[in-house]
Amino acid sequence: MIIPKEVQVILEKLKKSGFEAYAVGGCVRDFLLARRLVRQSFSVGRSFSEGGRGLEPNDWDVCTNAEPEQVQKIFPGSFYENKFGTVTIQTKSQKPALKEIQITTYRIDEKYTDKRHPDKVRFTRNLKEDLARRDFTVNALALDGAKIIDYFDGQKDLKNKIIRAVGEPEERFNEDALRMLRAVRFAVELDFQIESKTFKAILKNAGWLQAIAKERVRDEMIKIIMSEEPDKGIELLREANLLKYIIPELEKGVSVSQNKHHIYTIYQHSILSLKYAAERGYNLEVRLAALFHDIAKPQTKRGEGPDATFYNHDQLGARFSAVILERLKFPKKTIEKVATLVRNHMFVYGVGEVTEAAVRRLLRRVGPENIQDLLNLRVADRLGSGVPKAVPYKLRHLQYVIEKVSKDPISVKMLKINGDEVMKILGIGPGPRVGLILNALLSEVLDEPKKNTSQYLGKRAQELNQLSDKELKETLGKVKEKKEEVDLEIKKRYWVK
Ligand code: ATP
Ligand code: MG
Repeated sequence: MIIPKEVQVILEKLKKSGFEAYAVGGCVRDFLLARRLVRQSFSVGRSFSEGGRGLEPNDWDVCTNAEPEQVQKIFPGSFYENKFGTVTIQTKSQKPALKEIQITTYRIDEKYTDKRHPDKVRFTRNLKEDLARRDFTVNALALDGAKIIDYFDGQKDLKNKIIRAVGEPEERFNEDALRMLRAVRFAVELDFQIESKTFKAILKNAGWLQAIAKERVRDEMIKIIMSEEPDKGIELLREANLLKYIIPELEKGVSVSQNKHHIYTIYQHSILSLKYAAERGYNLEVRLAALFHDIAKPQTKRGEGPDATFYNHDQLGARFSAVILERLKFPKKTIEKVATLVRNHMFVYGVGEVTEAAVRRLLRRVGPENIQDLLNLRVADRLGSGVPKAVPYKLRHLQYVIEKVSKDPISVKMLKINGDEVMKILGIGPGPRVGLILNALLSEVLDEPKKNTSQYLGKRAQELNQLSDKELKETLGKVKEKKEEVDLEIKKRYWVK
């Protein structure tokens, strides 16, 4: 294993101009870990990727005693557009991790009044001072080709798989409370333990996390959720007292038992579903939905013991999920998708019970683009409840029906008649009535796709035009109610869960 040549070139150029230069931080940690893993895999025959994350550094950072203006002189095409002393170099590398390399002048962070970011930074000539401001010993290593600079026993902690604050943990968390969450994130990503004094300082001061910008919290949470063992991450957050400042809703399910269909508590089932979503490599939205799909069960539980019920936990859960994700400043698209998955996670799919029409309605409700994720959510949900088979024949059957009906019309846009034509045939102007007629037509086509011809729909539109707005609405409402009643009946029988 060698340092990538793009990084080497930068180090060499800086040194040729008389400056010090090192690779520093996360890339050194990951590089040394990967090197150790390669050595181990040679000696014990294990696979390289075993244990923790893949260990390809996410990015390569360089630190130097040159000031930004001096760095820019050495690298004419570089950018310097921040107040933290970071100059960005673009390389020709195809690898995302190496496309941009950041060169940062040794610096000391001065005074944190808001536990978020330093009020200002001061450049220094001293590498040790720069390393001392970094969060954990394993992140405070610098590498110069063959030489490793290690003032805080980072290599020892790396070897023993320990996350330890540099210096006095409580002081360091007081400066920037996000570091407490980062400790958990690294412990989970790398499969390390948090050293006990560091852990105690987190336990005691977890509430400081409330002062932190939600975007920063979100980014660390995404890394935890996307790690290989996110269930351990959530559990560690809980043990560290941090979960209640991030997703208190999850804690409500901790000691709440379910019913005869379940062996786990709500909380256990939630993190187990997340575990299986991760094991199967599902995307962020499915993982979030797996974690949140039963989030409203504590509030909807009625009765105790084997016959307890949780009616409407799916609907309420979708709302809770949106509230949580909005609070954590997730993008609107992510929020909507997770809420859709949670709202529909109770879909029914018994072979005899589910008609093609019902599957078309499911596709319409969920959106064809989300259907695979919904099936994945069900797989994670089932595995997380201790049910042995992930894709039983019923689910495979559903997949088959989905494919079969995938070309059928499921939206007003797909009807062989459009709003203009409806207006022309009925001699009416634009308005809500056009939408009502189109939706009534769609409802029929969802039941019987072969009715989707312009001739039939034109004729049917005229018949429907005999009804008043109120009657049209009632018909639509009745269809919806009837479907929901059937769904609920089946849910009651099979999915009292
Ligand atoms: P990743 O692999 O996720 O990129 P990383 O360790 O590189 O992890 P970054 O957020 O990229 O983490 O930060 C780069 C380095 O900057 C860290 O290794 C650490 O030395 C330092 N650092 C980052 N955030 C903080 C912080 N909040 N407090 C102190 N040092 C930090
Ligand atoms: Mg990094």
